[in-house]
Amino acid sequence: MPENKSNDWTIIKILSWTESYFKDHSIDSPRLTAQMLLAHCLGIKQIDLYLQHDRPLQKNELSRFKALIKRRIQNEPVAYIIGEKGFFESDFEVEKGVLIPRPDTETIVEQALKVLNARQKDFKPKTVLELGAGSGAIVVSLAKKNPDHVYYASDISFAALAIAKKNAQKLLPGMMKDKISFFVGDWLSSLKKFPGFDPRFDLVISNPPYIPTGDIQNLQPEIRRFEPMLALDGGRDGLDSFRSILKDVHHYLVPGGTILLEMGFDQKKGVQNILKPYPEYQSIEFIRDLAGHNRVILIKKSID
Ligand code: GLN
Repeated sequence: MPENKSNDWTIIKILSWTESYFKDHSIDSPRLTAQMLLAHCLGIKQIDLYLQHDRPLQKNELSRFKALIKRRIQNEPVAYIIGEKGFFESDFEVEKGVLIPRPDTETIVEQALKVLNARQKDFKPKTVLELGAGSGAIVVSLAKKNPDHVYYASDISFAALAIAKKNAQKLLPGMMKDKISFFVGDWLSSLKKFPGFDPRFDLVISNPPYIPTGDIQNLQPEIRRFEPMLALDGGRDGLDSFRSILKDVHHYLVPGGTILLEMGFDQKKGVQNILKPYPEYQSIEFIRDLAGHNRVILIKKSID
C-alpha cells in the first residue's frame, strides 16, 4: 500500500487500490475479495462499505486491513481469513482444520432433503447419520430445514467436531440446539464398539475425501496449502473412503434405507466396481451437480 496520510485512505479509495493489487497478484474475484476482507476488518456489512464510501480509515484499521491483504496474497482462502463461508441457506463458521463447504456440495443436501421429505402414510421421524461432518454444513443444513428428524454426526477430527457443534449451536433455533448428537469416529468403526448398541439409520450421508493422492499437488495453493488433507486425500485412486464406508454401512441401515455420497466427477466407474460384490445395495443412481458433473451417488439398501 503506497505511503499516504492515513486519513486520505477512504473506503472507496482503499477498495480500488486493493482490487488492482489483487488483480496484479492473480487473486480470483479481486473486487469482491477486497470488499469481503474490508467489511470483515471494519465489522460492517458489504453494503455499508458503499453507504460509507468516503469514510476515512483510522490508522489501526489500515494496519489490520493490510495484514488481511497479506494473508490473501499468500494464498490463504478468504473463508479462513474472515472465519465463515456461506453454504446452502446459512453462514457457517470455518477455520483451518475443517474443509470449507463447496457450492457443489449443495447437490447432496438437496438430494437428502428429497429423501427426508418423501411422502409417508404416517409421519415417523427418520434417523440420519452424517459421516465426516467437517464444519457440519450438511447435517446442520438438514436439521435446520427438517427439525422433526433425528440426527447423528461423526468426524475423526476433534477440531472439526468442535466447529460443527458451534455451527449447530449458532444456526439451529432454541429447542433444536442440541438436536444433533456428535461423536468422534473413523467412518463406522466407532459404532461397532458398543456391544448392545445396534443403531439403524434411514439415511447415511457423507462427503468423504475423494481426491487421488497423486492429484493433490496439482490443486490450487489455497486448497493444497491450507485445507485439511484428511478431508481431501482419498488414497491412491481417491476411492479409499468409499471402500471403507460401503463395506460396513449396510449393517447400519434399515431395510430400504438410503446412502448418499458425494464423489469426484470422474469416479462413476470406480464406485460401480466397489459396489459390485454387495447384493445388499440396490437401485444405484448417479446425480449431477449444477455444472452437469456426476457428483452424488444415491444407493438404496435392499428391503430383505
Ligand atoms: N470437491 C472438493 C475439491 O475439489 C473435494 C472434496 C472432497 O474430497 N470431499 O476441493
